[in-house]
Amino acid sequence: MELSKDEKYMELAIAEANKAFDQGEFPVGCVIICNDTIVASGSRLGTTSNEKYPSEIYHAEIRALQSFESSISDGITEHYDGINNYETIGVCGEIGKISRSKRISEQYELINRSKIMPGQCTLYCTMEPCLMCFGAIILSGIKKIVYSFEDPMGGGTSCDLNSLSPLYRDSGISVIPHVLRYKSLELFARFFSKKDNLYWKDSLLEKYTLEEMIKAQNFKK
Ligand SMILES: [Zn+2]
Repeated sequence: MELSKDEKYMELAIAEANKAFDQGEFPVGCVIICNDTIVASGSRLGTTSNEKYPSEIYHAEIRALQSFESSISDGITEHYDGINNYETIGVCGEIGKISRSKRISEQYELINRSKIMPGQCTLYCTMEPCLMCFGAIILSGIKKIVYSFEDPMGGGTSCDLNSLSPLYRDSGISVIPHVLRYKSLELFARFFSKKDNLYWKDSLLEKYTLEEMIKAQNFKK
């Protein structure tokens, strides 16, 4: 069966989550897509068993947003390597392709030139964003979030925006849950099934995830 666009991009976020998992991190991955181009990505950091105290800043969405801001604000020369015929660049909030044959400092042409407008971007993440990330995504100007697995313990997207101040209340953000849910569920269940993984050990999230995995497996039988 052919994947939908949201599923296709969620696969990329899951690939980021797999990278985190392989490094012993909590398997959350995130990508930001603008005009069918991946403009930023991030994966969870700071949760391995070696951490004395896990980081609650380096969430996948925050790391993707950091990379997103760089994509928007970086100048041409930092991205242009002078070797490839075409190099995707970020320039003053724009993304496009630059022709090698033109000298950058004198004249350049942007092919398929289009601005990175946060409002036209979609953020894909493998777990429902927490309150911190949900707030940061709203402040970034991104208007659409697609996530895979719900977080019954720390998910922030169900908060009542109408009860908040104008920046949040009037953000117009839309949230689409459960895209490729089983794939993400399976990865989180694998994380919690490993004895060495201590992050959110014995938590409501662990209990819920493992129960959901059993339910999903029974449903498949
Ligand atoms: Zn978060």
